[in-house]
Parts: sequence; structure tokens; C-alpha cells
Amino acid sequence: MLLQNKVAIVTGGSRGIGYATVQAFLRQGARVALCASRQENADKAVAALKEEFPDADLLGIAPDLADYASVKAAFDKVEKTWGGIDILVNNAGVSDSTPFTAYTEEAFDRVLDLNVKGVYNCARAACDGMIARHSGVILNTSSMVSICGQPGGVAYPTSKFAVNGFTLSLARELGPQGIRVNAVAPGITETDMMRAVPKDVIEPLVAQIPLRRLGQPEDIANAFVFLASDLASYITGVTLSVDGMART
Ligand code: NAP
Repeated sequence: MLLQNKVAIVTGGSRGIGYATVQAFLRQGARVALCASRQENADKAVAALKEEFPDADLLGIAPDLADYASVKAAFDKVEKTWGGIDILVNNAGVSDSTPFTAYTEEAFDRVLDLNVKGVYNCARAACDGMIARHSGVILNTSSMVSICGQPGGVAYPTSKFAVNGFTLSLARELGPQGIRVNAVAPGITETDMMRAVPKDVIEPLVAQIPLRRLGQPEDIANAFVFLASDLASYITGVTLSVDGMART
């Protein structure tokens, strides 16, 4: 198994891509703490996963990702339970489609607070132990919009460009301390986030994808497994597109 006895935290692990990532990590032997926005959502996901993986080491936590003290307290609890955090997957995110002239400061902040500040807070809270052990993997969830932008909802692509910059910069800073930092940039992936998008918008997009299908959460989870594992031990600072597209 690729992640035997590794301790992983997956934010946004209660649904969609994060949930599939938790499943994939458990299949590879990891112990996983999943984060949700509310404790009841985390508990519900843990209960469902316990049915599928009765012997799994699983925790459900719900820190406020935009608040460093809350994240640190929750991550300390994971470290106390299982020892150091080996793998952090920053996956929780919200998208947006507000037209630029309709934006409020609050709407803009809501996206940036979770998608950027949340990533910073979690990496900051996880990295002290990783630095002390000279070992660790931090993975971030970017998006294909970090390559091509998107019309409408400008906070969302802005946040994902920031995630790519954070990934590259942190990889350069923490590489000498034994920590790898990478991102995965999913294309349109069938989760609650994209189910809100009307079919007549999705169909023409699928026609432009060389592999002619939407992404499944498992497609993204498999990339996280690879990047978290020692198979990727010489890869850092990359944003790996997993989107069925063919481009440079
Ligand atoms: P999703 O199905 O909507 O799930 C979102 C996850 O994030 C849930 O676990 C949710 O927890 C958690 N979350 C939402 N708001 C939160 C908050 N304020 N605090 C803490 N957790 C919060 O999303 P998804 O499609 O799997 O997306 C996961 C990641 O992939 C995001 O970063 C997204 O930007 C990125 N992505 C998705 C797509 C796509 O097409 N789906 C494409 C590119 C990139 P609760 O269950 O508690 O609400």
C-alpha cells in the first residue's frame, strides 16, 4: 500500500473530491482526519466511511479554516491522537459566479478567506511538525480556471491563481526542509459544486474536452494519492492538471 500508516488531514473531506480522496487514502493504508464546515457534516461522512472501511483509523473535525487558532487546535488534536501529520490535503473550497459589477466586499472575502487564507492557515499549522521531522507533503487543490481564468465569479479564479503561487513558493521555501508541496488542478468534476451548473452550459464544454467526459472525484483523488506517495518523491512545486484536456 502506498500510504501505509501515514497520517493525513483532508479538508473538505466530507463531500466530492475530498471524500473520494479520503476513500483513496484509506485504501492505501493511511489514517485520515477529514475536515468539514460543521462537525455534524464531518460525523456523517465518518459514519458512512466506517461502513465501507470498518477497521479504518478515521477522525472527523470541523475547525474554522479561516481562523488560525481554530485550525491549530484541531490539528494538535490529530497529532496527539496519531503522532505527526505526514500529509495535508488542502481541498476545501467554494466557487462563485457573481458578475464583477455585482460583487460585494463580503462576497469576495468569503471566497478568498476559505480558498486562500484557509490553505495558508492549514499549511502553517501542519508544517512545524513536518519541519521538525524533516518530512511531509502538502497538497493543494487548484483548478483549471487557474490556467484559463473564467468570466464571472472573479474571486474564484483569483483564489486559484493564488493557490498555484503559494504552492510554488512554499515548495521552494520548504524543499530544503524535506517537505514537498504540490497542487492538483481539476477540470470540471462531477460533484455538488458543479451540479448547480445547467446542462446546456456543461454539454458544449464536454465537447471541447479531448477525453470527452467530465472528471470524476476519483480521477482527482488518484492524483492526490500519487503526489502524496513516495512515487512522487522527486516532484515538488508543480500544479498537475487533471482535466482531460491536452495542452502545454
Ligand atoms: P464540494 O463537493 O462542493 O465539497 C466542498 C467541500 O468543502 C465539502 O467537504 C465542504 O464541507 C467543504 N467546505 C465548504 N465550505 C467550507 C467552509 N467554509 N469551511 C470548511 N469546509 C468547507 O466541492 P468539490 O467540487 O469536491 O471541490 C473540492 C475542491 O476542488 C475545491 O477547492 C474546488 O475549488 C476544487 N475544484 C472543483 C472542481 C469541480 O468541478 N468540482 C473543479 C476545479 C477545482 P461541508 O460538507 O461541511 O459543506
